[in-house]
Amino acid sequence: MKLSQSFVKTLRDAPKDETAKSAKYLVRAGYVHKELAGVYDFLPLGLKTLRNIENIIREELNRVGCNELQMTALQNPDSWQKTERWNSDRMDIWFKTELSAGGELGLGPTHEEPGTAMMKDYIKSYKDLPANFYQFQTKFRNELRAKSGIMRTREFLMKDLYSFNTNKEEHDKFYHLIEEVYKKIYSRVGLGDCTYQTFASGGAFSKYSHEFQTVLPVGEDTIYYNADKSIVLNEEVLNDEVLADLGVKREELESTKAAEVGNIFSLGYKFSKPLDLSYTDQDGKKQLVYMGSYGIGVSRVMGVIAEKFADDKGLVWPEEIAPYRYYLVAIGENAEKKAEELEKQYSELILLDNRNMRPGEKFADSELMGIPYRLVISDKTLEKNSAELTARKTGEQKLLTLDELVAILSKV
Ligand code: ATP
Ligand code: MG
Repeated sequence: MKLSQSFVKTLRDAPKDETAKSAKYLVRAGYVHKELAGVYDFLPLGLKTLRNIENIIREELNRVGCNELQMTALQNPDSWQKTERWNSDRMDIWFKTELSAGGELGLGPTHEEPGTAMMKDYIKSYKDLPANFYQFQTKFRNELRAKSGIMRTREFLMKDLYSFNTNKEEHDKFYHLIEEVYKKIYSRVGLGDCTYQTFASGGAFSKYSHEFQTVLPVGEDTIYYNADKSIVLNEEVLNDEVLADLGVKREELESTKAAEVGNIFSLGYKFSKPLDLSYTDQDGKKQLVYMGSYGIGVSRVMGVIAEKFADDKGLVWPEEIAPYRYYLVAIGENAEKKAEELEKQYSELILLDNRNMRPGEKFADSELMGIPYRLVISDKTLEKNSAELTARKTGEQKLLTLDELVAILSKV
């Protein structure tokens, strides 16, 4: 990709209406554009980063046999009335709209209700189970406060997965499988070392649900942990009964701020009962379907990564999710030719800064954008048939021969 082709410009000054560090940098570096409070456009660099996270999640879910589909954002009040969640007293974050022919519609804040209702058309007998589906879908939530950039927005990208089983035992197996898949996902996006599976409040069908919480000073949640016993729990379940249950004492726990990047939930019959999602078992008897739901806030994950790793110069993306792996700057005519050749061949990996600007300004933008490696080719490095490589995270520099560089590029 050539930067000269992009309409997006980096900004020298931080926007005044952003408080979160990640939001300031994401706007300044041209990843997102603010429409209004809690509503952001994803610009080319931002979209590419978001898609990289999405693709990691997709790969890991597909690997264990999950089915991707896409449901609608517009929702029929019907199923929500059956679970008594259409009323704004029960769901205080609804965005609702009206049909011109009369009647209300909701903009989906989550998809348990329509997902359960939809599966009534496909699940009839025990032979139709187990089943699952997931989607990457824009959710709408009328959040009271939206001041953490893309970490809490009113329109956001969620990956939501729903599972349908004949009974609890079968459900539990899938639940544990997804626990493992989530660990792999957070590790691949670069959050493995700082993301914990926590005990969170359950519901009628399980004592606990689990959340995935990334340690973050500006996180909205507080988690309590005991490193020796590998126990982490949410504030809402911090009580004597739970502590006894987990075999840990209050004074053995330390607290820290964290951001919820995902959760997994045993729903049991919570939705299948009111919506009558049932199957006929081997004895011809009608049974309710046992359900689970599993969310990841894809756009929040991107915000959390931005927030977590940014330094005083700008963003720092982990390699796997960075929009480009290399930021290429050429100094001198021959170097420019060589750089264009490289960009042409590896346009998915290389962001070529061919704008008419001083090298110093380009270096500053490469740091602001958080591209993992900066490559500089000058007539001087070309004399040694090489390029200078600088790692964004560590500042470490080394000279690579062009042959070595091409070998690396073709391997990625
Ligand atoms: P929170 O407690 O942060 O409001 P939640 O419990 O409402 O989250 P879910 O409804 O389970 O979250 O949504 C699944 C995931 O979607 C969450 O784990 C989180 O990562 C993400 N998420 C939830 N609300 C938002 C939001 N307003 N903006 C961005 N991401 C969100
Ligand atoms: Mg919420």
